[in-house]
Amino acid sequence: MKTIFEKSIAGRHGVDAGTPEDNTAKILDAKFTRIAEPKLPELSELDVIRHFTRLSRMNYSVDTEFYPLGSCTMKYNPKVNEAAAVLPGFKALHPFSAYLDAGSCQGALELIYRSNALLCEVTGMKDFTGQPYAGAHGELTGIFLIAAYHRKKGNKKKYIIVPDSAHGTNPASAAMAGYAILSVPVDKNGTMDVEAFRAKITDEVAGVMMTVPSTLGVFENRIKEIADIAHSHDALMYYDGANLNAILGKFRPGDAGFDVMHINLHKTFSTPHGGGGPGSGMVGVGEKLIPFLPVPRVVKNGDAYSIDSNFPDTIGQVASFFGNFGVIVRAFTYIIMLGREGLINVSEMAVLNANYIMAKLKPYFDLPYDRICAHECVFSAKRQAKSGVYATDIAKALIDRGFHPPTIYFPLVVEEAVMIEPTETESKEMMDSFIAAMIEIAGLAQTNPGAVRAAPVTTETCRPDETKAARELKLTCF
Ligand SMILES: *Cc1c(COP(=O)(O)O)cnc(C)c1O
Repeated sequence: MKTIFEKSIAGRHGVDAGTPEDNTAKILDAKFTRIAEPKLPELSELDVIRHFTRLSRMNYSVDTEFYPLGSCTMKYNPKVNEAAAVLPGFKALHPFSAYLDAGSCQGALELIYRSNALLCEVTGMKDFTGQPYAGAHGELTGIFLIAAYHRKKGNKKKYIIVPDSAHGTNPASAAMAGYAILSVPVDKNGTMDVEAFRAKITDEVAGVMMTVPSTLGVFENRIKEIADIAHSHDALMYYDGANLNAILGKFRPGDAGFDVMHINLHKTFSTPHGGGGPGSGMVGVGEKLIPFLPVPRVVKNGDAYSIDSNFPDTIGQVASFFGNFGVIVRAFTYIIMLGREGLINVSEMAVLNANYIMAKLKPYFDLPYDRICAHECVFSAKRQAKSGVYATDIAKALIDRGFHPPTIYFPLVVEEAVMIEPTETESKEMMDSFIAAMIEIAGLAQTNPGAVRAAPVTTETCRPDETKAARELKLTCF
């Protein structure tokens, strides 16, 4: 039997609109031209359309379903972003143009320059780089910047402090950059335990990585104190700004004493993500770290934009050219479209929506940190686990009911964690139907736990062995 990926039939083809005369072969030396025709699948146009349309329908996406995946900010990506990204002046631009003839790409350079300036305004940082391809890459870049700062000053530093509620990428990035990790627990409010922090910090600490609001969805309210302690040891403050959805126009990390941060444009600023799609983890810095920023940097002289790589203390290049430029175009479009009031509204609605879900589900699920939440709320399925229904079973049962599951088993400090982030782009009706599904599943966990454990029953595949699937990935056989 043919798998769903092998559809080629010898001799079948689509419409041939003819090919423009191609002189490449005449120009190129024979040793660079193709020896044999490539073995391409032979398909009709309809075969191709059906194949990709069918595959797209097997996928969950924000464009089809509610996607409350906590810590991932799966908000709707406005289609106007896509229209801007395919403008020929952006899409067809060769990245070398900026090196060879900056005059030919003023629009693109201006967009990079203004994106940096807009993000400075949003975060209180003093400059940005758009090179890093993702949040984790931004963290690594940020830690490299911290390391360069200490190297320049001759500081001997060994450690990075990370709270135990942090995203796994935080300690991983610090370790990749050569530091050992000191972990600090969260207190009963879900915020960093300041006494434990005080006990850990020494002059050998290079930096402190914090996530605000923390991954438990609660605001860290002793940042000033923590930053003052860190700075008294010349340790720099790193802000994990993967998710800014709760703080736009409300709180600026730069004003609170943070020295460096990354932002996931593919979360807060509505560029597509998931499935490994291109992201952008732009990194912002305060005054102290500007000299170390990656090159090339876009600079402005009078009305003209150009690039400059002549910064002697730079950490160099962390990505090719200017990072994922198309992603920056999308995020810039989103920011310009919303403006100041629009961005503030984003955060207010994101926080309101998360608190609405939290309040409605509180009678049915345990809530380990019971206080007003930020853009996401974290429940525990401990109560359901007593009857043998675990967070993973609840997730599978939601799939049957047409929802993407929330994040489960993260943050690690919450047993049977169920982390829900609705984002500002969902309607009350959509959230109500999700809430109804969660309440129904909580009820089933008491009356018929087997039915929840059997889920999903409506999907292409049932439950894979997740460990095996991750280690022996098979993509071609169903
Ligand atoms: C998503 C996320 C990251 C990592 O971002 P990637 O783009 O997936 O590398 C880091 N920290 C937090 C808090 C996140 O939610």
